[in-house]
Amino acid sequence: MMRDVQPTASHFIDGRYVDDTAGRLIESIYPATGDVVARLFSATPSIIEQALASAVRAQKEWGALKPVVRGRVLRKAADIVRARNRELSEIETLDTGKPIQETLVADAASGADALEYFAGLAATMTGETIPLGGDFVYTIREPLGVCVGIGAWNYPTQIACWKAAPALAAGNAMIFKPSEVTPLGALKLAEILMEAGAPAGLFNVVQGYGDVGAALVTDPRVAKVSLTGSVATGKKVYAAAAAGMRHVTMELGGKSPLIVFDDADIDSAVSAAINANFYSSGQVCSNGTRVFVHDAIRPNFLDKLVQRTANAVIGDPLDEATHVGPLVSEAQRNKVLGYIETGKAEGAKLLIGGRVPPSQNSGFYVEPTVFADVTDDMTIAREEIFGPVMAVLGFSDEADVIARANATEYGLAAGVFTADLARAHRVIGQLEAGTCWINTYNITPVEAPFGGVKLSGVGRENSRAALDHYSQIKSVYVATGPVAAAY
Ligand code: NAD
Repeated sequence: MMRDVQPTASHFIDGRYVDDTAGRLIESIYPATGDVVARLFSATPSIIEQALASAVRAQKEWGALKPVVRGRVLRKAADIVRARNRELSEIETLDTGKPIQETLVADAASGADALEYFAGLAATMTGETIPLGGDFVYTIREPLGVCVGIGAWNYPTQIACWKAAPALAAGNAMIFKPSEVTPLGALKLAEILMEAGAPAGLFNVVQGYGDVGAALVTDPRVAKVSLTGSVATGKKVYAAAAAGMRHVTMELGGKSPLIVFDDADIDSAVSAAINANFYSSGQVCSNGTRVFVHDAIRPNFLDKLVQRTANAVIGDPLDEATHVGPLVSEAQRNKVLGYIETGKAEGAKLLIGGRVPPSQNSGFYVEPTVFADVTDDMTIAREEIFGPVMAVLGFSDEADVIARANATEYGLAAGVFTADLARAHRVIGQLEAGTCWINTYNITPVEAPFGGVKLSGVGRENSRAALDHYSQIKSVYVATGPVAAAY
């Protein structure tokens, strides 16, 4: 039985649902069937204005509260998210097509972790005192004001929480624009924050396409923009924000390396490669999509990988036994199938998958796909596919594999599998990536900074570092003696 997910209205502003049916239609499509499960409208200028005006008002009230009181609201929101995990997970599955087996543990759950973590940190944001021999300077960490969050479609609930939790903890208000492909999850977060005691207007959700995002980014009342999306969009949003000297956080795409040395625990490395490529049907920005496997173990690694990939249960995302669901949209599926054809045409060896699963005659499914004999110059080794397509490459020399791993414009993530700890740290130390793993992959606890280098982004989400990106330092010089002047 499918849940009714049509929201009361498209936007959540100033503490309530509002709509303006003059906006362009947004259809929320359940990717497993292609059915429209909700109809919403893109924000009109009047909706955007309401969102901005109420956020400005709410931020003044919220920013003046004692931080421990702000933390209490976020903590309560975390508890409500956890209590409603099943409902939120089903919405996430209908929004994205990701299997309920994943959404029950990964989406609202990680959102609740972020709310809880930043709730605790809110009251720890202190400045410093700098003695100057009688005079002194003290610093205060102040909120930025109204922040705009813009989301991608792969983790709509998590992205909304990862942005809102540190922003609100630091005393800001947030206007969040979900991806037009997945409009539903963020509305629930807005409801929950209100229920937890946030002032009306503190967390507004406006729906829309790129033009709505662009209108928010250039409004003079906006102090910061945090985007999760593609590099192409990131360049546009960063440039638009720069015109107003706004703060930015950019969480963008990747083509991350996962390097498996010949002394690695092969079963763990295979598990990591599976998680790093097929979880969420491969729609994860930090995925390790270039799997470099040492020549000495590659045949064994590939045998195990193919055997285990054949066991993946592809099917109905609402069935808890399903491992692999559809891609988020027909457009994304066609893009991924196009890359698979390019991989074959350029000479990569298709070991398993590569098709629309024959058992799925509706929805946007693609089989988990493994290519071997991939070389660095092939399209599937260079471009972000954002689908369940793994490229396995060979190597034999440590320095050579590091150079090849770094030969990309991206730098979001990287992983190394080896039993030699000295080598693990030596290699990780040379990889150009913001988020790295040794002997595991794609674990992103809220306690650890997350973000990229090079074209993969600017700034960090999660961890104490995120608070720095949602606040600014005021420096106050205090004189304790008379002031002299030259005349
Ligand atoms: P996208 O870039 O197409 O869209 C992202 C968001 O930006 C959407 O909400 C979209 O409406 C909005 N947007 C588009 N044009 C805009 C403009 N000119 N001004 C303001 N906003 C605009 O990305 P997507 O297809 O939704 O998501 C997939 C991409 O996101 C992949 O490249 C993936 O790697 C990346 N991603 C990164 C992370 C990360 O944390 N690093 C996480 C998830 C996804």
